[in-house]
Amino acid sequence: MPNMSLTKTPVAEQEPLVRNKNFQEVTLGYTPQEAMEEAQRCLHCKNRPCVEGCPVNIHIPEFIAKVAEGDFKAAYEIISDTNALPCVSGRVCPQESQCESRCVRGVKGEAVAIGRLERFVADWYLKNVVAAPQKPTQNGIRVAVVGSGPAGLTCASDLAKKGYEVTVFEAFHTAGGVLVYGIPEFRLPKAIVQSEVDKLGALGVEFRLDVVVGRTITIDELMEEGYKAVFVGSGAGLPLFMGIEGENLAGVYSANEYLTRVNLMKAYREDYDTPLRKSKAVAVVGGGNVAMDAARCAKRMGAEKVYLIYRRGEEEMPARREEIDHAKEEEIDFRLLRNPVRILGDERGRVCQIECVEMQLQAPDESGRRVPKEVPGSNFFLDVDIVIMALGTSPNPLIRSTTPGLETNRRGCLVVNEETMQTSREGIYAGGDAVTGAATVILAMGAGKKAAEAMDEYLQKQK
Ligand code: FAD
Ligand code: SF4
Ligand code: SF4
Repeated sequence: MPNMSLTKTPVAEQEPLVRNKNFQEVTLGYTPQEAMEEAQRCLHCKNRPCVEGCPVNIHIPEFIAKVAEGDFKAAYEIISDTNALPCVSGRVCPQESQCESRCVRGVKGEAVAIGRLERFVADWYLKNVVAAPQKPTQNGIRVAVVGSGPAGLTCASDLAKKGYEVTVFEAFHTAGGVLVYGIPEFRLPKAIVQSEVDKLGALGVEFRLDVVVGRTITIDELMEEGYKAVFVGSGAGLPLFMGIEGENLAGVYSANEYLTRVNLMKAYREDYDTPLRKSKAVAVVGGGNVAMDAARCAKRMGAEKVYLIYRRGEEEMPARREEIDHAKEEEIDFRLLRNPVRILGDERGRVCQIECVEMQLQAPDESGRRVPKEVPGSNFFLDVDIVIMALGTSPNPLIRSTTPGLETNRRGCLVVNEETMQTSREGIYAGGDAVTGAATVILAMGAGKKAAEAMDEYLQKQK
């Protein structure tokens, strides 16, 4: 008999005013009992609409059936068949607009909590099963992967499982891409990402860290060294700024730089000596997930006041609903329909105020979004000592400028054949944010997977 509750089985969370002072995980995850109870809400629909909503087509009803039976190991095996990083996707996937948006239980009531169940299964496996993956017999064909974000890790994992000798080249000193330098510890613990990276090591993947492809070595030099194909998963890490007065003052950060200092360089830990300006009041500019992460980190770093300044309204915010709610509960002060026009500095060139104007929404433009327009004479000032710009990112031009013949579009993204993920150069494939611009973890993983299939086909023909 299915569980016909109209709402999801609740999940435990840290209290908002406790968690906004620490970096431990906010959502604590289901207990086995809660997971089994939630799994019983699934109706095992024959046409499986939820599966179509998942970019990597996880066999959702099948894994949920195993959870309902209490066979969590079998559930994990079903998930990991199509998803190389379930601990990650179960936490950060925008489930509400993907698998869960198609769930029939969502028609009258709430969808089955697919993401929470996926996270539960992946965490359970990590805790209870000590099984390093078997290293496959290698076929002697070398493949290079540039970037160790979700696109690169997925591509490397799939190719290693097929027997290729995979080397991942990563510019940072730690593998994981945005999973380690962007998404904060309180949403995705770094030990979990490391355990996924370690699994790739066990499959025989070699990681070369602190190597900037395009500077330390070019893609053409890699091919001359004997790599028969290359996957470019270098992401979209180049931050955008507004171009307003005062953006060069001390205390103005891009969200990427701020989050990298906090997360990757562990500025929040007393045993690390990472330079980051101490602050009482912070302004974060933007309305996406990155802005929410920056604001919530700033609060945890000790700021008494954190303003989130966004030029449209809450309905137009691109951030996930859950992130917006969490940020509000944690006392982030939302200043909606407001836009900065100038940042002011003190006599030592350090940020001391931000000048903003009020905005009004006009009719939608051709993209369907309502256009914000300044209200003349509505200027006001906020006292702040840090400003964080979270306005979006684009791909870094380094790889395209050092690899002749790589075609890019006007946003600087690599152009690929959507079926194979091959770029305009034979043997060079690409996927993730480097191709789409800033998108999601699961789309990057889907692209890495598709590319691995096509690279295998290409390399087998070259033999
Ligand atoms: P990345 O994760 O950016 O990895 C690229 C890697 O390539 C990096 O490690 C970089 O150092 C390396 N690299 C770049 N150039 C070179 C080079 N020349 N040589 C060697 N290495 C290089 N998505 C979600 O689905 N859910 C979320 O909740 C979410 N939150 C986010 C929060 C933040 C703060 C940010 C910034 C993004 C968030 N995203 C989220 C988006 C998501 O993280 C990205 O879409 C995803 O990580 C893209 O994966 P990728 O592998 O293409 O690139
Ligand atoms: Fe849903 Fe993401 Fe898991 Fe797919 S990977 S089932 S979209 S949570
Ligand atoms: Fe279960 Fe919902 Fe998928 Fe139906 S759509 S199989 S109820 S998760």
